[in-house]
Amino acid sequence: MTQGPAQNLSPEAAGGLAYDAVVVGAGFAGLYMLHRLRQLGLTARVFEAGEDIGGTWYWNSYPGARCDVESLDYSYSFSDALQQEWTWSERFATQPEILRYIHFVADRLNLRPQVSLRTRVTAAAYDEVARRWRVETDRGEAVMARFCIMATGCLTAAAVVPEIPGLGDFKGRWLHTGNWPKQPVDLAGRRVGVIGTGSSGIQVIPAIAPEVAQLCVFQRTPSFSVPARNAPLDPARMAELKAGYAQRRAANLQSAAGYVYDPNFQSALEVDDAQRQAEYEARWRKGGAGFLVAYKDLLLNQAANDTAAGFVRAKIRAIVQDPVTAEALVPRGFPMGARRLCLDSDYYASFNRANVKLVDLLKSPIDRIVPEGIRTADATYALDVIVFATGFDAMTGPLLRIDIRGRGGLPLRRKWARGPLTYLGLQVAGFPNLFIVAGPGSPSVLSNMVVSIEQHVDWIAQCLHYLQRNALASIEAAADSEAAWVRHVNEVAGRTLYPLASSWYTGANVAGKPRVFTPYLGGVHKYRERCEQVAAQGYKGFVLQR
Ligand code: NAP
Repeated sequence: MTQGPAQNLSPEAAGGLAYDAVVVGAGFAGLYMLHRLRQLGLTARVFEAGEDIGGTWYWNSYPGARCDVESLDYSYSFSDALQQEWTWSERFATQPEILRYIHFVADRLNLRPQVSLRTRVTAAAYDEVARRWRVETDRGEAVMARFCIMATGCLTAAAVVPEIPGLGDFKGRWLHTGNWPKQPVDLAGRRVGVIGTGSSGIQVIPAIAPEVAQLCVFQRTPSFSVPARNAPLDPARMAELKAGYAQRRAANLQSAAGYVYDPNFQSALEVDDAQRQAEYEARWRKGGAGFLVAYKDLLLNQAANDTAAGFVRAKIRAIVQDPVTAEALVPRGFPMGARRLCLDSDYYASFNRANVKLVDLLKSPIDRIVPEGIRTADATYALDVIVFATGFDAMTGPLLRIDIRGRGGLPLRRKWARGPLTYLGLQVAGFPNLFIVAGPGSPSVLSNMVVSIEQHVDWIAQCLHYLQRNALASIEAAADSEAAWVRHVNEVAGRTLYPLASSWYTGANVAGKPRVFTPYLGGVHKYRERCEQVAAQGYKGFVLQR
């Protein structure tokens, strides 16, 4: 710890060390928050459960892990010096490169001394008398802070291992993509089973297929996936891109998703089929998530969506040689993009390899895990390793695993029993001076996360500065503005095709989790304007107290 206790609070009175702010999590969000807090002259401490900084990019170190937003955009924009100094080597950065980048930023800004690693925050309770948060960790430490900032991420340590009977009997090794070991895992020559075919499964499968002896892919719901077309960024191209960084960042801020992939403002239904096929083909060749903005209504109109989905289904049938496997890989029953569109590198072609087998769980569900492998309704698959690519208790999970209590000791778990309630995704009524970075009710996972994180961190930093300048003790979402915001989040989602799919966006992947569409779909640009307006109007919708 390099910073002393805050001046205005005696540590003894507080029952432990005291800071102006505690930040939970040292990924993109927590590290930038720390930087901004220091610029404000506030004392701060960051707690991080991992052995190292990096957040999502620390935990998800499975083979093939790679970002699906282009490297140039998936990086901090707040410092031109940082963005000019760092050089990305590929169009879509790998997990190790992103982690190196996070370390580079932390070192340049000298952020590490205030980060306590291997320390999980277990509880945070608001003390109404002291008007401080008491934050407890799994190391038995308790600290007091005026502000508690949750930079806990959306898809971090809350990895879901499904309750399949028999896992304890398995004689081999099992792993989860979201909690991958930091020591090398040797899969060469092994018989490996992967359960799950979302973004993580679709990345790990082609990455390990060439080295393993045999790969069984246990698929329940097939995903839509389009080629990433990753490629190296040569130094000349990188220099050219760096020269245009200012314009690129400005365009990202004006976009709905926090990055710009050649949007087309026509309807898919106002052009003929030949034109649509040509458009989809061009985007398929170019690669990347730009496929989903081929037309403006792909996520608004089922008929429009069907045209894009039909194109991808035809591609799957053309790539995968075995017709039975191809048919099993074809997604059906939900709009394309309503579950996260995956970007892949040779995913479908992996199924043409002799050592890769698709096990269609819709036809033959997993019965149990047995000592030698996985038994389905009609066969037993002998395995040395099982890889769970089964996702996360996303968005709310990382927050609710902490026992957060607001006014009157109200547990956040109780307040959110029927789904997350926030005002602008930033604050919760009844939880003064608690902020959430890129959490439920904000664009978060449906945007370029780094852009959304920077926007939230900047907003929170400006808010803290405002409180300081105006000698205000606390800020808290008003209950009526929170209720209105939650209604608005739901209304906006209801105008799209997103709620038509069962997905982790709606909490459907976790048994017993309330079904609520959690991210805000109003667009990064409009959302930012709204947040700025609220601040300009003296934090309208929030309750400020002296
Ligand atoms: P996910 O999208 O939730 O996928 C989980 C997969 O596991 C699904 O195919 C699911 O099938 C399957 N599954 C879960 N329980 C199962 C069970 N009991 N039996 C059989 N199958 C089961 O999780 P994810 O792939 O880790 O991705 C989560 C999110 O992380 C992504 O949507 C994306 O936002 C992010 N991510 C991004 C990248 C990237 O940037 N490229 C990479 C990885 C992850 P059902 O659908 O049938 O439940």
